[in-house]
Amino acid sequence: MAVYLDNSATTKPCPEAVAAVNKMLTENYGNPSSLHGLGIEAMKAVSAARQAIADKLGCEKEEIFFTSGATEANNLALFGAASAMKRKGNRIVTTAIEHESVLQAIDELERQGFEVIRLMPDEKGFISISDLRDAIDEKTVLVSMMYINNEVGSVLPVEKIRKIVSLKNSPALIHTDCVQAFGKIDVRPKKLGADLISITAHKIHGPKGCGALYVKKGTKINPRTFGGEQEKRLRPGTEAAPLIAGFGAAVEALPDFKEQSKKAEELNLYAIERLAALDGVIINSGENASPYIINAYIPSFMRSQTVLQWLYSSHGICVSNGSACAKGKKSHVLSAMRLNDEIIDKSIRISFSRENTKDDVDALCSALKELIEKYPK
Ligand code: PLP
Repeated sequence: MAVYLDNSATTKPCPEAVAAVNKMLTENYGNPSSLHGLGIEAMKAVSAARQAIADKLGCEKEEIFFTSGATEANNLALFGAASAMKRKGNRIVTTAIEHESVLQAIDELERQGFEVIRLMPDEKGFISISDLRDAIDEKTVLVSMMYINNEVGSVLPVEKIRKIVSLKNSPALIHTDCVQAFGKIDVRPKKLGADLISITAHKIHGPKGCGALYVKKGTKINPRTFGGEQEKRLRPGTEAAPLIAGFGAAVEALPDFKEQSKKAEELNLYAIERLAALDGVIINSGENASPYIINAYIPSFMRSQTVLQWLYSSHGICVSNGSACAKGKKSHVLSAMRLNDEIIDKSIRISFSRENTKDDVDALCSALKELIEKYPK
């Protein structure tokens, strides 16, 4: 059995999600748009999942649009908003530490003529509110800032954006990628002041290939794809009903936030203490980071990619270096934090879910101790 500490890349589907997907594939396989009984049953399942997600976010069911994941939700939000808003101004404000699906979509918008301001983080991955204030002006049409960074766990000041946007008389729509926050802390669009929120099922023990975009009622964004009537024409195409049902079941199976956060904080403290006790290990994540993500430098002659392979082949332990999507490229997040190349090349990300225990941390730390002793810098 693997010791799975790569939950920011993806999580193990929970039994409730597996059962829901299975039921839709084997029994409830109608097209949700079909008018016969099987179609109606499938539509009911999609609708129940939409309601479960809306309840968790404290929003209306009509504000949830299903997508193939957060990559698509981010692209829909960014291109959809930029195209709907382009007559009002030209500036987009974002950060240098967003997920690739935001970074690259915004690079493309820049090529199309938008002026892009990318806020730089401090050495722990935090974004300063005064930089945010300086960046937003009356021509800013879109602000996109993730809530929790997926590589180092820093919590970004998303809640401050709405007030700054109002103070600056900016028409900007506010988008936030809440992939690493949803299901772990209480993500509420109203409290965050967000118009657009991206989430995905596979980071909360649901199936891969299914996500959602929250679009605040009355917010106009343009579609990216064209076709049928599904998802109110904002995201046409036959709904992935089995995956959507699995997403809904995973949301319903989420434990109480407070209890879960307390457990995660305890596990995080334990892990930090044990890691810091290893000779030469440096914790790159800040003290106020999400308890679910620890980024740490491992002093060995091996680069992080080899460390990952060694941890798995010798001890069955799964961790990652940076984001799973970057596939071995130098971490843009650690680079933006201005860490030196030695640290960037040899840091790993340890990420927890509600299923991890101190035994998993013990297994990791004793393997790392062995590695540091066997293969010193
Ligand atoms: N945003 C963040 C912060 C992520 O961590 C991920 C996952 O890798 C994504 C977006 C992309 O999500 P998906 O895999 O559903 O496309």
